[in-house]
Amino acid sequence: MRYCLITVLFLLAVEGQPPAEPFVRIGLTQNAPAVTIRSDSAFSVQQRTTRTATFTTVLALDAAAGGLVKKADLQYRLSVELDGDNVLVLPPGTHVRIEPGGTPLEIDTRAYRGALDVFGNTRRTLTVVNELPLEDYLRGVVPNELNPTAFGQIEALKAQAVAARTYIQRNLGQFKEEGYDVCASDACQVYLGLRTEDPIATQAVADTRGLVATFDGKPINALYSSTCGGRTEDAENIFREKVPYLVSTSCEYKHPTPLAFTTSRSVPDWKAGVLTVAHVATFADAARFMGLPDRGEPAAAADPAALAAFVRQTFYPAVMTASDLSFLNEQGILPVGGSLPVNELLFRLIDRKGAFEWQQGVLTSWDGTKLRLLVNGQPKEFTLAPDALVYQRIADERLPLTHGTWIGGELVDFRAENGTIPMLVFRINFANPAADRYSRLAIWQVHKTAAELDAAFRPLAVGEVTDIRVLERGPSDRAISTEIVGSRGRRTVAALRLRTLLSLRDTLFSYDVERNARGAVLGATFFGRGWGHGVGMCQVGAYGMALDGAGYEEILKKYYKGIELKKMY
Ligand SMILES: [Zn+2]
Repeated sequence: MRYCLITVLFLLAVEGQPPAEPFVRIGLTQNAPAVTIRSDSAFSVQQRTTRTATFTTVLALDAAAGGLVKKADLQYRLSVELDGDNVLVLPPGTHVRIEPGGTPLEIDTRAYRGALDVFGNTRRTLTVVNELPLEDYLRGVVPNELNPTAFGQIEALKAQAVAARTYIQRNLGQFKEEGYDVCASDACQVYLGLRTEDPIATQAVADTRGLVATFDGKPINALYSSTCGGRTEDAENIFREKVPYLVSTSCEYKHPTPLAFTTSRSVPDWKAGVLTVAHVATFADAARFMGLPDRGEPAAAADPAALAAFVRQTFYPAVMTASDLSFLNEQGILPVGGSLPVNELLFRLIDRKGAFEWQQGVLTSWDGTKLRLLVNGQPKEFTLAPDALVYQRIADERLPLTHGTWIGGELVDFRAENGTIPMLVFRINFANPAADRYSRLAIWQVHKTAAELDAAFRPLAVGEVTDIRVLERGPSDRAISTEIVGSRGRRTVAALRLRTLLSLRDTLFSYDVERNARGAVLGATFFGRGWGHGVGMCQVGAYGMALDGAGYEEILKKYYKGIELKKMY
């Protein structure tokens, strides 16, 4: 009786346990001629202790066989060089499993959580597999798939963590015959190990532990693109397969609220604005602004050669030149013949020497005092001076403004002095309200010459390109069917093929074919948006939604229609 009760309790305990977190096997390399594993603490290889182990494949010849050996009889062995010049030679087919000692195992500059498994493959090269718990793997994936420095919004990173977890759950065993689950490159999802981990990305993994996106109870194919350019595309238009949850959606979230700015000062001409901010009215001021010795002013009635000598000696003291005037002509500072107003000359000196130290960034927020900008992918905060000079750039014009609005996503050229901005020039982002407007890479332009077009389309064998015709566009405006017309025929290509042939970031573009007077193609310009295939989650859009207050579940359900989140363990 008592015995039975214990058995029943035991069974209940096993059945009531949630499934355990799986271990995953990640193929780090599939084709290495040699690989060295090292660690700061000792580890063991086939019961021998070492701190380094260099694996190679060697040909083992049986000398007794004499001169002639059948190719099929050649024997390849795994050789491992350990500390102290010891070499282990192992039978073919040996899998060497290495558990870490007290510190992680390393290969080249990378370190890995978990164990490594090294074995020879059918290509007579080495395969290295990293085996570790799934959640530890994700810590080395999420920061490499969505940069937490540039796009450090926790809810966006949580959405990325769920997408990455869903991907690996769905693809467990994908490369089973190669001895691992998935690869570590962007052909699967990018995994670069321990040293690329980031605290906020790790937090995002921990906060969503075990959660995957499912449709009909199964993990979805969680595709994503860097930026969608305003609207995502139906899967069937890119991958020729209808997927109920991968359907086109607008990347807009909350319509952006225009944020007002005002400034107390305005200088109509922006070049005069530069001189005002630099406090430059004389040559002596300009020299001081550039940290050069003050050599006073040129003689009032200086002839062009004398003025050139003064300018060259003051502002380019280290330059050796036979003719100061032609040197300054080449620099675009003094005109060839004729003269220049002093202010224009001072502006050119500051501008050509890069002395104003313009920086460029994308506006991510503005609270009336503080501007946040992404500068080279790094978030930076600045104070806008109350009397800052603000200009809106339209083509080559710079329009002075004392008030206006920003919505975020504007491209801003600015000068900063100890964290304060005294002058900025912004470009409106075509009033683009999409949540992915914060990526300056989302808008692009590519020019191809006729020769480049011919080379790009050579695999199609249509001869010299005479026309490009987009036959069909998807709901996001992506070119899903394009006809390439040439001197020897015509071919229709699908979106991904076109993107590969032309090496474009995306297939969301308008274009102009340029022709000479006789109608021959001179080249083509593609004006595009988006980066990626455009299907599924928009990563910068996820960041933009998070910035506007969305949670990760809302983000995932926007880009993957009709999904449910399910906790796997
Ligand atoms: Zn988007």
